[in-house]
Amino acid sequence: MTTPQKNSPSIVTEYDIMSRRSIPQKEIKALCALSGGVCAFPGCGRSLMEPCTKDDDAAFLGEVAHIVADSRQGPRGNSPLSDEDRDKHPNLILLCGDHHKIIDSQPTTYSVSVLRQMKIDHEGRVRKATQPDAPPPTVPTQREKILSSLLSVTYLPDAVFEARCGYGDRQDGLVKEHLVYPSDKTELVRFLVRGKKLYTFHDLRHPDGPFQSVIDLDSVHKTPSKRFWATAEGHRRFITLLNRAMYKHTAMKDIRFDPVHRRYYFPVLEKGKERELSYRPLNKTTETRKVAWEPKTKATGKSKGYWCHLAAGLRFHRMGDNQWCLSIRPERHLTVDGETPLPPERIGRRVTRMKASMFNDKYLSEVNFWRDVLSDGQPRFSLNFGNQTMVLSTEFISFDVTSPGIPGDEMPFKNQTYEEDLFTMAELRSHKDGQPLDWDEEDEDDYEDDTDPI
Ligand SMILES: [Zn+2]
Repeated sequence: MTTPQKNSPSIVTEYDIMSRRSIPQKEIKALCALSGGVCAFPGCGRSLMEPCTKDDDAAFLGEVAHIVADSRQGPRGNSPLSDEDRDKHPNLILLCGDHHKIIDSQPTTYSVSVLRQMKIDHEGRVRKATQPDAPPPTVPTQREKILSSLLSVTYLPDAVFEARCGYGDRQDGLVKEHLVYPSDKTELVRFLVRGKKLYTFHDLRHPDGPFQSVIDLDSVHKTPSKRFWATAEGHRRFITLLNRAMYKHTAMKDIRFDPVHRRYYFPVLEKGKERELSYRPLNKTTETRKVAWEPKTKATGKSKGYWCHLAAGLRFHRMGDNQWCLSIRPERHLTVDGETPLPPERIGRRVTRMKASMFNDKYLSEVNFWRDVLSDGQPRFSLNFGNQTMVLSTEFISFDVTSPGIPGDEMPFKNQTYEEDLFTMAELRSHKDGQPLDWDEEDEDDYEDDTDPI
């Protein structure tokens, strides 16, 4: 930490004191000039220069902090910024001792982007006060394309059909017993019963449709989808219908939905036998990978005592007025023997470890894998509801991002916060449109185990 240097006009930083590499004096001078000699922390305003007295020299009370830390291992250190650029004034911020302590002890709150904005705001205020007529400086910005883990829904059913039904909310099983399954096995016969009414994407007006024996044909009502999801209740029900369609679409690929963890996973197909899957990556030939296996210790070849299954959270979200998407979040599902879920007390640490190793390329390749499995390696895939269809594009939604950059920093967004950043963006956008996103608003009985005949 810097101590005011009596009788010394030069500025000392914590790096001199800790005998690590020191910040060049010219960078410190530039920073002090741009900061007006005042702490950059919002609302502090402390002047960091104590003028000389009759007996003593001037004292400098400021401390120079790195925005991207000088150490790559420490908090705020993980960045491709070169060592040299870390010590340049665009990456430095002038603070009083108290505020330097605060930002260093709360690295989550005072992240690189927060500090960068703090610096831009403060230096902007100083410039305005000292050169009111000067044109605003051009903040260097960089543009980049960020790929999301969101697939765009390019076509949705136009309408939701509803009709009076002889069964109640908890009688889905009875309804299923009376359905007439269509000969086209790709047709997803999905529905929702609420208050003695059955809701579905199937056209209920057809007298020979799958629901003919459970509904009152004279009571069929058709609501345009857009009007249906305009209410909170309709929105929830719409998502439930989409999710039930997804349960079925994945069940046809022998992927199971785990209602407890709300994730889709590959169960074993034969007890005690590891499962492999041949799949077709987009525009490539078939590849094979294990999707359910028993991890073994390398040294002894002995089982680690649990089974691991590839898994993913697949959720539908409405991002704007008319824009829906499906998010893919890769996960792992753990079982005792390929079947029974691992008890929670045995999971915690393992799952954390797997998540931690899923950054960057690995994370993206997992997202790609799920995309390829869902689409059978096609550029799009559809969910068939008889004479209505839903189509999802397999091209990930991308965002053009412009952000204030600093020299050498090519990655303002880290991959580990990748999904969250994008979701925050989607959320922002949706708030702007006045429509909150309902991440977790599915009905509670939405997590049924899907065991229908296919
Ligand atoms: Zn301060």
